[in-house]
Amino acid sequence: MSNLFPDYELNGRDSPSAHRRYEAGRGLDYYDADPNLRSVLEVHLDRATLGWAEERLRTLGERCGTEIVGHADVYDRVGHELVRYDRFGRDVSRVAYHPDWSANLDEVFDFGLVGWNHDADRLARYGRAPATLLTAFDYLVGQADMALCCPVELAHGAVVVLERFADPDLRARLLPAVVATTADARLQVAQVATEITGGSDVGSTRTVARREDGRWLLRGEKWFASNVGADLIVTLARVDPETPGTRGLGLFIVPRQRRDGTPNRVSIRRLKDKLGTIGVPTGELIFDDAEAELVGDPARGFAYMAEMLNHTRYWNAVGSVGIMRRAFLEAAVYTARRPSFGAMLDSFPMMRERLIWLQVDLAATTALLFGTGAALDELERTDDREHHLRFRTLAPVVKYRAGEQNVEFARAAVEMLGGNGYVADFGTPRLLRDAQVNTIWEGTSNICALDLWRAISKQRGHEPVLSDAERRLANLHAGPARRLGPAARRGIADAREAIAYLAEASPTRQDQQARRLADLFGDVVALAALAVEADHEVGKGDYRKAVIGELFRWRMDSAHTRRAAVTEAFEGLPDLYPLLFGEAPVSEREYEAALASLPTDRATLGFREDRIVAGTVSV
Ligand SMILES: Cc1cc2nc3c(=O)[nH]c(=O)nc-3n(C[C@H](O)[C@H](O)[C@H](O)COP(=O)(O)OP(=O)(O)OC[C@H]3O[C@@H](n4cnc5c(N)ncnc54)[C@H](O)[C@@H]3O)c2cc1C
Repeated sequence: MSNLFPDYELNGRDSPSAHRRYEAGRGLDYYDADPNLRSVLEVHLDRATLGWAEERLRTLGERCGTEIVGHADVYDRVGHELVRYDRFGRDVSRVAYHPDWSANLDEVFDFGLVGWNHDADRLARYGRAPATLLTAFDYLVGQADMALCCPVELAHGAVVVLERFADPDLRARLLPAVVATTADARLQVAQVATEITGGSDVGSTRTVARREDGRWLLRGEKWFASNVGADLIVTLARVDPETPGTRGLGLFIVPRQRRDGTPNRVSIRRLKDKLGTIGVPTGELIFDDAEAELVGDPARGFAYMAEMLNHTRYWNAVGSVGIMRRAFLEAAVYTARRPSFGAMLDSFPMMRERLIWLQVDLAATTALLFGTGAALDELERTDDREHHLRFRTLAPVVKYRAGEQNVEFARAAVEMLGGNGYVADFGTPRLLRDAQVNTIWEGTSNICALDLWRAISKQRGHEPVLSDAERRLANLHAGPARRLGPAARRGIADAREAIAYLAEASPTRQDQQARRLADLFGDVVALAALAVEADHEVGKGDYRKAVIGELFRWRMDSAHTRRAAVTEAFEGLPDLYPLLFGEAPVSEREYEAALASLPTDRATLGFREDRIVAGTVSV
């Protein structure tokens, strides 16, 4: 009898792509499968650190690509349950977690994603993990599950609050538990600002704090709390009812258990029925005269929260870039293995161009991310004002850009897998559902763009960022990297001009254009970072990043009409696919040939001279 259900397997026999060797974007080592990550880390880590870090990265990469992603697929379908009352009707408000979530959470915290630099054993065995290395760890986790990145990001934020603003007694009591690398010693954190009255508009906070018998008591409701079952809730409350807006807000930490061990008066009203990130439960909180610990000066709560947000925004961007990478991987693997019309999907010119732009945008945003991580490293090492301002200015840019792009990438991956891309078994639907929240939490895209403008207009935050980029461009060695310099410098000049224009513009115009400025700023800093990475790679005899940099520059410099987009844009690009996606390093000769195949003069592209600053071309 004939077999009506033959085995159908994809294979990548005819594809020139290195991705053909994988079956899917799961069941593999996320570190090994990502030569770009290694190359980026070579730029940012010293030799000794990279020496010991590789083994750790490989361990985590393998775990993320196998068991951790497998667990995430399960709990994403099932979710968690709110246990509101015990059998006698007492309000216990706890989350009954899916065991696979608890296993994943323990694994990444035990690994040291948050506590590495506070753990004597790890410091003795390996050494200090710079922020760029912690970024790489979290980026691997983000490929498996964005939801898991959320508690990591919240804990990083709490560390900033405790280390920088809490008094020594509070710090000594709570910090060791937040950074603990063993589950029994660990406390989980939530950070809650949003009320029904607004998340962006934090000044509308209605929760009040009052002093009674030497204790602070909080009364009010919070509308969104991620990681809602956490042990510690960092939150804002109005200490001075007479002072409206953000100025009257203090920052507090509300423990679920009071110091005497009794339950605090905190209820979880309900869990949100969400689109994605099902792994991390989000709920509504009620503080019914809940005991709270004041952090620092009661009049500076919003300032503390803003500082914490810089950090949580950065860690949020790391997760977004993780989604971008995973979406790219899923699309690259599938299209290298799926036959259609008698050829592999990745043989079709249109598909090749889409894959190439995904690769280019991923490389650019990854370069921007790790460049921001390097600013965080320098800030942590020196506590210098200039590094602080650089990180403060870059954090909203990378949060905004990665948040927007992770949706684009996930959407592209779904479509590039065709019907299968829409089916949970193939992994891409979860990416798309999870990606969307990264445009919202920790500040929406608009709010991040406005925050960039605030950093620029109030603190001249662009100066340390752009002068750092200029310094790095001046130090490039290899010809192909230096070749990117003029475009990057032109971009920097453009950014300065655009900023000068906006500084003179009306507030309405500034508000309207903040996103466009964030696009331009992100492009410019990313191109400079790509040039530095290309310099490093060319030094090793690989010209791939130099070609990628050229493509990014090419598109950044171009504004095209609809007509020119059809008749002239990007001719020859699909031919670069075997080169860019192949296994082998790209040689100098191949690089030269690639350049020769691309028009370099903007006029010959038929593009208008008024350059757009629109960020990504649709992928
Ligand atoms: C799954 C999930 C988890 C969350 N977890 C948390 C959490 O743990 N803690 C927490 O505090 N919050 C959390 N939030 C809430 C989130 O931070 C807020 O929803 C977000 O900050 C936006 O606030 P909002 O909902 O009030 O929207 P709004 O501020 O009303 O925004 C609506 C739209 O208006 C735009 N907008 C607002 N103001 C301006 C402006 N001045 N100029 C231009 N455009 C503007 C926004 O960009 C957006 O497009 C979570 C949200 C979700 C979906």
